[in-house]
Amino acid sequence: MDRSVIDHRGPEFAALTEAVRVGLRKVFGTEDGVPILYPGSGTGAIEAALVNVLSPGERVLVYNYGVFSGGLAMMARKFGFEVDEVPLGYGKTIPLEDLEARLRADSATEPYRAVLVVHNETSTGVTIDVEGVRRAMDAAQHDALLIVDTVSSLASIEFLMDAWRVDVAVCGSQKGLMLPPGLGILCASPRAVAISQRGGSPRHFWDWAPIMRENRIGLFPYTPATLMLFGLREALAMLVDEEGLPAVYARHARLASAVRAAVQAWGLPIVCEDPSCYSNTITTVRVPEGLDSNQLTTHAREKYSLSLGGGIGELSGVAFRIGHLGALNELEVLATIAGCELTFADLGIGVEPGSGLLASQRTFLRSGVREPVGVA
Ligand code: PLP
Repeated sequence: MDRSVIDHRGPEFAALTEAVRVGLRKVFGTEDGVPILYPGSGTGAIEAALVNVLSPGERVLVYNYGVFSGGLAMMARKFGFEVDEVPLGYGKTIPLEDLEARLRADSATEPYRAVLVVHNETSTGVTIDVEGVRRAMDAAQHDALLIVDTVSSLASIEFLMDAWRVDVAVCGSQKGLMLPPGLGILCASPRAVAISQRGGSPRHFWDWAPIMRENRIGLFPYTPATLMLFGLREALAMLVDEEGLPAVYARHARLASAVRAAVQAWGLPIVCEDPSCYSNTITTVRVPEGLDSNQLTTHAREKYSLSLGGGIGELSGVAFRIGHLGALNELEVLATIAGCELTFADLGIGVEPGSGLLASQRTFLRSGVREPVGVA
């Protein structure tokens, strides 16, 4: 990315656009989905998804299980869609029988046009079963669009747009794609594209039609984030061609299980209630009663330059978050766990220093390397 800006209407740029589109299809798990890029962030890409396929007054179904799933409902209301928001509580996942029942009981005359879900709820560390959501929609024989926020899952947790028949998947550059913030990215299924051509909401910058038209010849209808695209091309090559997506997902599973082993050794509760939904990209941890988690994250940052996530939404002050997505390896995880333990000790939190570190190391040793002599 550290290079001079090229002409975004020249032939070199057209080749760059095409390479990025090919790589993105692989990461989204699609053959015929249409990747669309904006200078922006995940929020912009969500807005783009909504306004291209939904018209004011149309009904959508959203489960609220954290800040970002609740945020989908909030955004949808602002555009004048009729939102049925089902509150679940932080730490929960979508109950698939309830989803199927709601879709079976849906109105025949004004049915839901879309189900909006967040694959990985970044506030709670819950990864929902998108394939199960699709199965529930099929079982109810409901043809609503399935729109999925993959901001904190894509390129770190397996996502299969075609196999799960996701209609629009939305992301940003700054998480699993290992780039700085700056791009809003989405992928639209042929069905979503067809719906956008017949309807949607008033839009200009977010409109897929001119972007798709210009992308066909390697151009954009606006000035693209040129240098970000060089970075994205490289990130996609690292993920798809060098490490390989199955190995990327396995690495995140390994790193996440080591983080969870540490948290369990500390005796602190993980917010995600169902172990089958533990996130491989972020772990949200409750702090002991009486402690302000914001004090913990501030201390970790100021004393150890350790950037932990604060608790957000209902978890502000009562939980902190350990991010483990994107460009990350074993030693970085161990340093993070060690930094948490130093912070706990400084704040007088009754956690045995080294307990989490040992649990993490053992997890790594079990997943490939022999236990060293002398460690039970
Ligand atoms: N959705 C999820 C799941 C997120 O984690 C975030 C940001 O962290 C967003 C949406 C918003 O994305 P952005 O901050 O890139 O606009």
